[in-house]
Amino acid sequence: MNKNDIKKEIIKYGKLLGEKNLSPATSGNISVRFEDNVLITASGTCLYDLSENDIVLMDKNSILIEGDKKPSSEKNLHNAIYAMRPDINAIFHCHSPYTSVFAVCHKPLSKPIISENVFYFGEIPVADYALPGSEKLVENIAKYFAKHNAVLLANHGIVIGAKDIKNAFYLTETAEVYAQIYLNSFLLGGAKDLSHEDIEEIYELRSKQGN
Ligand code: 13P
Ligand code: ZN
Repeated sequence: MNKNDIKKEIIKYGKLLGEKNLSPATSGNISVRFEDNVLITASGTCLYDLSENDIVLMDKNSILIEGDKKPSSEKNLHNAIYAMRPDINAIFHCHSPYTSVFAVCHKPLSKPIISENVFYFGEIPVADYALPGSEKLVENIAKYFAKHNAVLLANHGIVIGAKDIKNAFYLTETAEVYAQIYLNSFLLGGAKDLSHEDIEEIYELRSKQGN
């Protein structure tokens, strides 16, 4: 895909985040690798109302290469994850409401109650709080990407990485629906866990499919 096509995809999935109530106001940011660099939303933009000049090009050191606006304040977090994970080509950071409930309560999304979530995430851990946009936040979160493709940010939101932007969107929605189901399950007395055998079977399937 060329640069303009990637920008169009970022605008499209940004709109979808809005339609699904996954990205309130000017919260969150999206990035996608482009060759050796990264296309990222500009700081302060609304993800469901982006235009092409709200997406800028930065290098691996978060230096602006192209665009009139400042890259997202979480630029170093995006670059740290790309540096660790060559298989990740798109990253979403969202303040999606239901996953954020778990983030503010410092509760990981680790209860094995839905096979799809065990398959895609295993568990989603919680990284310690640090000021948004800070180096400490990068330090607290990036290390989890050695073993995970999604991390909750204490008192803040969630970061998700995937092989492409479409899958990053799917994972963001999947995590949000999981959090919603998990919370609602308490109305009916609490969800029942999958058994160890069921979980092993899902992990086996996942490793066969190279995930
Ligand atoms: P930016 O608008 O700078 O991308 O920041 C939004 C955000 O969610 C910070 O954590
Ligand atoms: Zn944020």
